[in-house]
Amino acid sequence: QERNPHEKEFQQAVKEVLVSLVPVLEKNPTYIKHAVLERMLEPDRLISFKVPWVDDNGNIKVNRGYRVQFNNAIGPYKGGLRFHSSVNASIIKFLGFEQIFKNALTGQPIGGGKGGSDFDPKGKSDLEIMRFCQSFMTELSKYIGPDIDVPAGDIGVGAREIGYMFGQFKRLKGSYEAGVLTGKGIGFGGSLGRKEATGYGLVYFVEEMLKSQELSFNDSTVVVSGSGNVSIYAMEKAMQLGAKVIACSDSSGYVYDPNGIDLDTVKQLKEVENKRIYEYVKKHPNAIYQEGYTGIWGIPCDIALPCATQNELNKEAAEKLISNGVRAVGEGANMPSTLEAVDTFIHQNVLFAPAKAANAGGVAVSALEMAQNSARVAWTHDEVDKKLLDIMKNIYSKSIQAAEDYATKGNLVAGANIAGFIKVADAMIEQGII
Ligand code: NDP
Repeated sequence: QERNPHEKEFQQAVKEVLVSLVPVLEKNPTYIKHAVLERMLEPDRLISFKVPWVDDNGNIKVNRGYRVQFNNAIGPYKGGLRFHSSVNASIIKFLGFEQIFKNALTGQPIGGGKGGSDFDPKGKSDLEIMRFCQSFMTELSKYIGPDIDVPAGDIGVGAREIGYMFGQFKRLKGSYEAGVLTGKGIGFGGSLGRKEATGYGLVYFVEEMLKSQELSFNDSTVVVSGSGNVSIYAMEKAMQLGAKVIACSDSSGYVYDPNGIDLDTVKQLKEVENKRIYEYVKKHPNAIYQEGYTGIWGIPCDIALPCATQNELNKEAAEKLISNGVRAVGEGANMPSTLEAVDTFIHQNVLFAPAKAANAGGVAVSALEMAQNSARVAWTHDEVDKKLLDIMKNIYSKSIQAAEDYATKGNLVAGANIAGFIKVADAMIEQGII
């Protein structure tokens, strides 16, 4: 806290991890002797840079870009880029810090990083987006590479933005390094299944967790916040497994459709037309639209999947969900539940799947994209999906095992933190004091 006094999101993410690690440090004093935590809490570097660009009216704009390269003990830095007006150093550091553990859990050789800009893509033309991405990459290109740091998408950064950044990187370097970015278009090195990976992976993970209590998505009612990449494909997989998804949202409000959300309409609005979620009710008059995105947690459901953004689900929302009978919560977004909300779920015996483990499917398939790029091959959708399913099952069993080893049986928050930590900590010790 003293070193990073204004970084509240970063402090929150660190606190959650440190609390879980107490029994690990007690059992293994070697981690203390090697000052592993102190070294892990300080990023290798945080780069902040100017991003000047010109809008369609000829006005010059300036945004701030970031890349945090947190830890590369087990592989090149890897993590997404977020374009959102709320982006600052604290948000990038919390995301980068979480990424270290998440990436370790995937079993793939990738370290932790994250980046982005306070640029707000809403309402920008395609050419404005392209000019911004080109300017952003002009600076970022100095710090990344297939064996150094491999960025990907996140909020506000999808295949279009990755394409523009990849084009600019190629132009600056004069060489074709497919593995420098992931989330690329399928025609130039992208992986089939990457678009669906985080949402599908979340549902695979939650299904494993439900199985432990002889529950399942089948015949359950599900509420999913957000209506972006993670949310859409979490809804799709939940529906494929027999669930009825009754609500989703965007940052303006939420829709409740008692007949079950029509996913084709959501995809058309969000992936094709770039419209707001309230337009849904024009096509489905039985559905209800409510302003404000937090009210979605007042809808009774069996399973809640927060898939929008950090701290979207607080203690009050957690209590509301519990009083309405929620059985399981799976975090698709990064740190969507406040610390108090997480405690509430755990103490009330709600099955709880933390983001680090549950949303790791996206970065896992990004690592599969890197592997395909290196080998110059392309796997089928089914091959990638099968690997994703195996990876998510494996993350679940590793997390459950780590929780059990350290006497927090069934606590996946602790288990995911511990399993991720041990892998990275051991690699750091073996590599000396760096
Ligand atoms: P998108 O940009 O595709 O979608 C984000 C969704 O969340 C939109 O519906 C957006 O609404 C909503 N949202 C964003 N900010 C806020 C806010 N401040 N308040 C309320 N709603 C908000 O992003 P993704 O789906 O890719 O990412 C969602 C979450 O999942 C993030 O936390 C991200 O870090 C995490 N994640 C993403 C991965 C991926 O592969 N994409 C991988 C792992 C984690 P609106 O359109 O109105 O802004």
